[in-house]
Amino acid sequence: MKETLFTVGPVEMYPEVLKVGGEQLPYFRTEDFSRIVLACDESLRRLADAPEGSRSVFLTCSGSGAMEAAVINLIDQNDRVLIINGGSFGERFCEICSDHGIPFDSLDVVPGRDFDPDRLASLDLRPYRALLVNAHETSTGALYDVGAIGGICSKAGLLFVVDGISSFLCDELHMDRMHIDLLITSSQKALGLAPGLSTVILSPRALEDLEARTPRTHYLSLKRHLSDMLRGQTPFTPAVGVILQMHARLQSLGAEGAGASVERCGALARHFRQAISALPFLPFAERPSNALTALSPADGRSAFDAFLELKDRFGLVVTPNGGPLRDRVFRVGHMGNLHEADLDRLIIALRSISK
Ligand SMILES: *Cc1c(COP(=O)(O)O)cnc(C)c1O
Repeated sequence: MKETLFTVGPVEMYPEVLKVGGEQLPYFRTEDFSRIVLACDESLRRLADAPEGSRSVFLTCSGSGAMEAAVINLIDQNDRVLIINGGSFGERFCEICSDHGIPFDSLDVVPGRDFDPDRLASLDLRPYRALLVNAHETSTGALYDVGAIGGICSKAGLLFVVDGISSFLCDELHMDRMHIDLLITSSQKALGLAPGLSTVILSPRALEDLEARTPRTHYLSLKRHLSDMLRGQTPFTPAVGVILQMHARLQSLGAEGAGASVERCGALARHFRQAISALPFLPFAERPSNALTALSPADGRSAFDAFLELKDRFGLVVTPNGGPLRDRVFRVGHMGNLHEADLDRLIIALRSISK
């Protein structure tokens, strides 16, 4: 049975990306490959509305590697940071800081609930150097008000680090207007590429901060990557195949812009949420991202069993949750090469499995 992925990465891939994936890889220490890297860099920064003077680096790792790179290159044991923590990806930032001995305070959010930016306004922000947030907490589907949080960080002089991995190209995300100093993206989410390539975009403020710091990492050193990126190269063998996929995808996206991609993803999310409202599955996120709809079965069925049944009986792969939400929540992705007809098939299957 051919499966359809309503997952949060990898996602259904686009024809132009699949085509590139089947081709022989070139050697990469060449002018030709450098040109491709620089073209990707430029369109990526344009899609993120990166401010004038921003720069990007391409890391060969999953998204979590880029989260760790952001932390260890710009923050150290003498700093203190704030982390908005509403699920397993917020928790990941906390664990990264713990592992590196970086003092942090976690602003806990009940899973699925929104984060009220007023909580920041009532805090003394002076002891903090940075605020770390996942724009969209993918484990619950909650999208935070990044613009409002960024405005407060900017006034207080905090470095604003945003994991945009599952919101880039799905939700409004503008580095300039939202005062984002460092934006993380990754290949296997809305870009719809193979996993293994992550990018970090640094604003002029982040670049200036980085200048004053000594890297405590070799492979993930942003300084080393920035230096090679000046000529469209990376210090180590990059994910050559994924960069070529990205080049193909960004050419299609560049023509339509980030707004069209956000609009498309939003239209799919609205279409699905309208149809699901008649079935016994309740939306889990208070302020949902367009990237996915997190659902709780209202008929007493285990969310994990629903995932298994949809996959085994219908070949429709939604995303199960782990940990404490395993039986309460599953997620239906709207990222990648999906259409209303795919979601309609899922709705029919959900109707047939609901009691
Ligand atoms: C997918 C994702 C990541 C990265 O996870 P990896 O498995 O390391 O690629 C990080 N943050 C968010 C918000 C994500 O959705």
